[in-house]
Amino acid sequence: MGNGEDKRKKIFDKYVTQLRILQENELLPESITYKENTYICPICLNEFSNEDLKSDSLNMLTLEDAPPRVLGGHSNTLSCKKCNSKAGHEIDCHLNKRLVELDVRSFLPNTNSKAKFSYNGVLVQGQIQVDNKGEITVRHNEKFNEPNSFKKYIESAKNNNVINVEFVPSSVDVHKLEVALLKTAYILAFEKYSYALILNDSYNIVREQINNPGKYIYPIGFWTKQSSFRKKHEGVHVVDSGEFNGFYAIFSLNTSASNQMFGVYLPVSTLITDVVILKLRRKEGGFSLPLKSLKENEYFEDVENMELMYKYLNKKTK
Ligand SMILES: [Zn+2]
Repeated sequence: MGNGEDKRKKIFDKYVTQLRILQENELLPESITYKENTYICPICLNEFSNEDLKSDSLNMLTLEDAPPRVLGGHSNTLSCKKCNSKAGHEIDCHLNKRLVELDVRSFLPNTNSKAKFSYNGVLVQGQIQVDNKGEITVRHNEKFNEPNSFKKYIESAKNNNVINVEFVPSSVDVHKLEVALLKTAYILAFEKYSYALILNDSYNIVREQINNPGKYIYPIGFWTKQSSFRKKHEGVHVVDSGEFNGFYAIFSLNTSASNQMFGVYLPVSTLITDVVILKLRRKEGGFSLPLKSLKENEYFEDVENMELMYKYLNKKTK
């Protein structure tokens, strides 16, 4: 067995069993046609069989990382290869690039970047390295610089003059970075609550946004970066305060130089998503939400919890 097939088979079985339990207990939405022993890709909602765990399948089931692996994520769910690689190329890469860029521009330890340096109109290329103690070293390669300018620049730099530093312009698409945050939250929600949550109609808008990262579909303002979040807050929680209804995913993203916590709002109803996000946008930084942690609840075998989830979602949607 290759490509982590053992691990993928375990995940496949776990989700397929939950789907069967949901069906037996009439907890699947009417819009879902249930076929026995199928796995539904959380992103495209297409159905896959046991055969799609094999690498000769045209669109095999692959391990899905949340958060992206380069940012310290783990893989406990599956998505089809098409969705997985599309999201990686189109959205996740912008998130990683931006976080690394911010580390570099803040001169954090363990960063390294190309930059342009100028003094009195003389421009040269170089590399800025910050070691693990925060010591900054700038290197210039003579080969990449015009000799006369380089000489002039070195002389002025020797005299302790203030040098301008200009980093390489950003190629990050900020909206796609936001969609990557939404996708991470969505996959974490799938990991915790599985089909009991994500097959609800209110999640169509989330999938539509992930599948169309160039468009503005999910209301903007759905995420926040907060220094008040701690490791213990990580998870996908319920907010049920009357004013703010929904699910709230808190997770950390780690680069080689930094560790930051993000919060992303996920819907509970097709009716109130816009309203709640608008209210969240008006909140000051550092706000706290009345989060109800369902960390101890299990949604893969415990029918009672699945029923509660079904009732909760359907009550909110009606
Ligand atoms: Zn898919």
